[in-house]
Formats: sequence, C-alpha cells, structure tokens
Amino acid sequence: MAEEIIKIENLAYAYQTGTHALAHIDMTVREGEKIAVMGSNGAGKSTFFLNLNGVLQPDEGTIAYRGKVIGKKDLNELRKNVGFVFQDADSQMIASDVQGEISFGPMNLKLPREEVKKRVDEAIEYMNLNEYRNRPPHYLSGGEKKRVSIADIIAMKSEVVLFDEPTAALDPLSAEMLEEVLAKMSAEGKTLLISTHDVDFAYRWAERIVVFCGGKIIADGTPLEIFQNEAVLEQAHLKKPAMFTVYETLVEKGLVEDGSYPRVPEELKGVLK
Ligand code: ADP
Repeated sequence: MAEEIIKIENLAYAYQTGTHALAHIDMTVREGEKIAVMGSNGAGKSTFFLNLNGVLQPDEGTIAYRGKVIGKKDLNELRKNVGFVFQDADSQMIASDVQGEISFGPMNLKLPREEVKKRVDEAIEYMNLNEYRNRPPHYLSGGEKKRVSIADIIAMKSEVVLFDEPTAALDPLSAEMLEEVLAKMSAEGKTLLISTHDVDFAYRWAERIVVFCGGKIIADGTPLEIFQNEAVLEQAHLKKPAMFTVYETLVEKGLVEDGSYPRVPEELKGVLK
C-alpha cells in the first residue's frame, strides 16, 4: 500500500457565526490517490479543503502531513505541499499578467530568482499557456483561467492538489483538457482530491469517493461501493452515474454478465462483444 501522506484525526471546525461545518472527521490520504469528495451544498467539502491546506485551522483534532502533526508554525509548509485550486479563479488572481500570477507562489517561497523563472516557464509549458504569458488573467476565458490557477500550483510543486469543483462552468472541451491534465498529474504521482457534484466524472475518474453530509463523512469507498449504496446516495442526494445505470439495466435484462462495471464507453463496448 502507498505511503500515508495526510492523516486527519477527529477534526472539527466551526465558523465564527456558530455554524459547525465539520465534526469528527477521520481520514487517511495515501500518496498518489485519486479521491472524489462529494456531498450536497453546505455538506462541509470546502471547509474540509480549507483546513487541509492550512487556510483554516481546526478547532479540534489534528492534521498530520507525512507523519508530522501540523502546528501553527508549520502552516506555510502545509500550504506549500497541499495546493488548492479554487472554484472561482478570479478570487485567486491578482497579478497584471499570467506569468506574474504564476510567479507569486514561488516568490513567496523566497526561492532564488532563477529558480522562480524556471518554475514559471515549466508551469507555463505544462499547462500550454505560452501564448497567454503576457496577458491580463482577468480577460481570459473560464477554461484558460482554470489552466492558470492549475499552473500556479504546478509552479509550487505541491505534492497534494485539492480542486474545488473544477469542472463547474467549463465547456466540454475545457473539461476534457482538464481531465487530460489530471491524468498527467496522476501519472507523475501527485495526490489529487477533487470536490465535485458530477457523478459521471467521479465514477470514471476516482479510485475512491468520500461522501460528506452535515459536516461528517458518511461513506468512504470505491466508486462501485458508493454508487451501489442506495442509503448513502439518498442521504447525500447523489444520483447514479449514467454509465452505471446503463450497465445495471443491461445486467438486469440478461444482456451482459454481471461483474465488470465499465466506467467509460470503450469499456462498455468491450463488455458487449
Ligand atoms: P460545501 O463546500 O460542501 O458546499 P461548505 O464547507 O462551504 O460546504 O459549508 C459548510 C457549512 O459552513 C455550511 O453550513 C455553510 O453555510 C457554512 N459556511 C461556509 N463558509 C462559511 C463562512 N465563511 N462563514 C460562516 N459559515 C460558513
């Protein structure tokens, strides 16, 4: 089994308004995992992510990174290792051009000038942003802005990347590009946690799905385990992925043998041969 990278124990967080957004969260994340975080609006997913990358600090419980419990003085270390791609890219962007934007993170790490430049160039290359290099980030399209915010994290060389609903508001082509980038990041060993309402995406992409409801984790398992669990789906208001329903219908009608659960159309074609 891959090494533990983040261990969360008995985490609780309440906002100053008195809202108890998270309670008794226990979870271990292993290196290289592809985790979808699901649950209705207000379930606590964003608050969980904000605790994971040190923007918020737990009221109770602990977060350990590679075996070391994070205290107040380790927050910068946590923020460097756990990158956060926010849903709304605009809220993140402050520089007057794309390369300036991407250089913020490495500059904050107080890296030498040459290293900052190298990292910015690499991130621009990685996200295919060369033609946008000198453009103001605010005038880019939604998909392009998303690429810039991912480049920000690439330049930080974060080992773990949290994405808050990355496919929301992306057109199909940008969403496809995003999935290619996710595949590339996984192939390089990055650990990815993605909050999403998109059950079809979660089903084809994730190895593990963690379901939040009312500030607690109510289920944690493989996509198959989660989407077969009617009680969890009902409690978290999740629908079944289309591919899952199609396959179950084919099994029910005796058209295919039970067991393989294809996740993408190519796999379904294979089952129907
Ligand atoms: P999700 O990401 O699953 O939609 P959130 O983590 O945003 O859930 O919200 C969890 C709970 O915390 C909700 O009840 C929400 O209203 C509350 N909440 C979120 N952000 C704030 C905030 N900045 N101040 C006060 N309450 C908040």
